Amino acid sequence: MLFGAGAGQGSIKLWCREHRAHHRYVDTDQDPYSVQKGLFYSHIGWIIFKDDPDKIGRVNVEDLKRDSIVTFQANYYWQLFLLMAYIGPTLIAGFGWGDWLGGYIYGGLMGTALVQQSTFCINSLAHWMGDQPYGSFKSARNCFIVAILTLGEGYHNFHHEFPLSAARLPKQDAHCIAVGNRSHDIETAISVKVAHCNILRPAPNGKCGLRLKAPRSRTEQDAHCIVGEV
Ligand SMILES: [Zn+2]
Ligand SMILES: [Zn+2]
Repeated sequence: MLFGAGAGQGSIKLWCREHRAHHRYVDTDQDPYSVQKGLFYSHIGWIIFKDDPDKIGRVNVEDLKRDSIVTFQANYYWQLFLLMAYIGPTLIAGFGWGDWLGGYIYGGLMGTALVQQSTFCINSLAHWMGDQPYGSFKSARNCFIVAILTLGEGYHNFHHEFPLSAARLPKQDAHCIAVGNRSHDIETAISVKVAHCNILRPAPNGKCGLRLKAPRSRTEQDAHCIVGEV
């Protein structure tokens, strides 16, 4: 939580909300950093030319609102950001080996800028160059350069096709959750909860999403999650 604040990429709450919208509405106008609006926009333009927040696709963040650590970080974000990104490195280098200015410039200014730019490459380069061995419905690609810059985050085609990672779920579930654009065993996909709900979305080809009827056994919230926006 503290080091996340120091990365200068917004609070956990904001970051997750936009990340979930990115997965659910990728490559559409509701994707907060859609590469369809250009490489520059997907990299940093979405921060500079901040879109109307109402245009970003809706997702469920109730789990985040209930989390006290997430709420604490959101409430004190700017204080924590300044402490972890600039004041902390300056104090460590200053008290540690007497290099106050070096701590501020290299540990603070340059460190934060490099972390931000390499992370932003995931939204831009990893949606623009590389290969798509796991599916080509979306723009996400496996990009070697981004993998090096971000210590492994360049495996982005896999990440979008299997957003919860096959390592954490039975293979069938993981495959199914990734359906966004496919019609596999959707019954299996909707047996998993809120995070998955944020990933499923109506597909442009109509193969799943809005056309689906919620099974009677689902709660209304789950059903809403499957058939519409949350
Ligand atoms: Zn992601
Ligand atoms: Zn992406």
